[in-house]
Amino acid sequence: MDVIAPIADMRQWSRRALAAGERVAFVPTMGALHRGHLSLVEKAKTLADRVVVSIYVNPTQFDNPEDLAKYPQTLEADLAMCKAAGVDAVWTPETAEMYPDGYCSFVEVVGPLTDKLCAIARPGHFRGVCTVVAKLLGVVRPDVAVFGQKDLQQALIVSRMAGDLNLGTEIVVAPTVRDADGLALSSRNKRLTPSMRVKALGLPHGLELARQAYRAGQTTSLKLIEIVAEELLVHENVDLDYCDVVSLKGFAEVENADDACVLAAAVIVDGVRLIDHVPLAGQPIPV
Ligand code: AMP
Repeated sequence: MDVIAPIADMRQWSRRALAAGERVAFVPTMGALHRGHLSLVEKAKTLADRVVVSIYVNPTQFDNPEDLAKYPQTLEADLAMCKAAGVDAVWTPETAEMYPDGYCSFVEVVGPLTDKLCAIARPGHFRGVCTVVAKLLGVVRPDVAVFGQKDLQQALIVSRMAGDLNLGTEIVVAPTVRDADGLALSSRNKRLTPSMRVKALGLPHGLELARQAYRAGQTTSLKLIEIVAEELLVHENVDLDYCDVVSLKGFAEVENADDACVLAAAVIVDGVRLIDHVPLAGQPIPV
């Protein structure tokens, strides 16, 4: 497995593979890797001859400097996991090269995808995500890039951007990987103490209870949202950042849910922000 830092070296590696007629798949990450990331690598392996993983905690997508400072960094373990998973190259770009002095170019997706859910609580977040993903894709030029459905809004925005800007990379979305108790794997889970984890479980549990209520005939969005809120707000130091029913048709908030909708929520448990969602039509969450 090659471990590459300079942009020029990554570009050369990728060009060489593409020139040899190999398909290249790309999995961008911020490190602190877990089974969720590895599932994207597994998917990538089925889609291409070569798999590149990037590990880069992108400063421009953090609206909160404290969150950036506390983001877990576990590079040695990450590299071992990538090697064991059969990754061909890991790219660890440096911020000094990604955003040198004088840097002033950004990519922004506008409209319904970026005016709700995480975009409200985290101003500038998706602008930072789109900017770094466009930069990463511009260097690697992969045939395909794999993103997690866990970050549904991000996956939809990146997919839109890649299409709108004719980047030539197909965006593939892979399912959310969860722990047996239902909690979606996230690098941020490393910051949860056992008692915080109990509170955090209210998120998948509440979403699943609401999904079951929908399956039993409750289609009023406010009622479904109430079910999630009730499950979470029994705990102290838990804030519901947002909970909304959004239709995947046009990414609109709707008063009455249907099978095209997802119920999405973000919570802050003792300062740790977690997001999750459930498609109302299926994919039950283990609780
Ligand atoms: P991150 O390192 O958090 O930026 O995530 C890198 C990629 O892994 C993104 O495409 C995420 O959506 C994806 N990802 C994170 N957690 C999971 C999970 N539990 N299941 C599947 N994919 C995930």
